[in-house]
Amino acid sequence: MKDCDRRPASMASTISRQTFLRAALALASSPLLRYLPAQAADRLEVTEIAPGIFVHQGRYELQSPKNRGDMANASFVVGSEAVAVIDTLGSAVAGRDLRTAVRAATDKPIRYVINTHMHPDHVFGNAAFKEDNPTFVGHYKLARGLGSRAERYLAINKQMLGADAFEGIEIILPSVGVEERLDLDLGGRTLMLEAQRTAHTDNDLTVTDMATGTLFLGDLLFSVHVPTLDGSIAGWLALLDELSRKEAARVVPGHGPHAMALQEGLSPEQRYLGAIAADVRQLIKEGKTLEDATKTAGFSEREAWKLFDHYHVRNVTAAFAELEWE
Ligand SMILES: [Zn+2]
Repeated sequence: MKDCDRRPASMASTISRQTFLRAALALASSPLLRYLPAQAADRLEVTEIAPGIFVHQGRYELQSPKNRGDMANASFVVGSEAVAVIDTLGSAVAGRDLRTAVRAATDKPIRYVINTHMHPDHVFGNAAFKEDNPTFVGHYKLARGLGSRAERYLAINKQMLGADAFEGIEIILPSVGVEERLDLDLGGRTLMLEAQRTAHTDNDLTVTDMATGTLFLGDLLFSVHVPTLDGSIAGWLALLDELSRKEAARVVPGHGPHAMALQEGLSPEQRYLGAIAADVRQLIKEGKTLEDATKTAGFSEREAWKLFDHYHVRNVTAAFAELEWE
């Protein structure tokens, strides 16, 4: 995975934790500002990957009290009139840090909060933006998917995040559901939202910034972090094939570096999902069981991905259940 950490260096400028801490220390020397709130020093790092496009890179971890649900990428796009946030991290606390990063970059109103799909690490920070009164936008199937899993998602995250990081989380469903395509005008730039067929989940939405050719893929693209299958492996592979024929200046994964070249991002994931599909189909043909599959299918990919041991067997199980009925 050595080339997965590349990003367009030319346009990148980072508001780093160090820079912020230096500023914080300078402020702290003023008697009036000596009681700088502790959380301000933990401001989320964001990188400007293209003019007006800021991306925060999440950690390759499961949610924990320590990471406070900061384990997916989240972005915001600044137009001449308004801001759109794309995904909000995995807790209201982390969402508030993201909002602070938006406010540090621009004072334009946050008019849209877009969720790329229903998973908690992308939507549980939505509550942090309520005060902005934005339009929440998602795939038209997001509300149904998240609604039916709300109780379970809340219980799991309460347990894994702990009480402090769980504080303030609430489920906010999209007020606008995209069935095919929706264009959002931010002033001087347009975001094109496209509802995709079932792949990573049944409610994946992609976002293209037309001004810079930046394609936000949400969890249709994992890099470094092993992909997780919660939709259809056949659908996902077919969609990746389609996406690979697109032209994009850069893509932003749901998990992975801030930005990548299109094919550089897609290829390892196509190889991973392709290996599972091929192995599972072969095992089914040989009359082997699901248990056999979970011990062998796709294990050639083990060294290539972080969190492989946590998610891979689940992926094989989901693939087997789907491909058994082909
Ligand atoms: Zn996801």
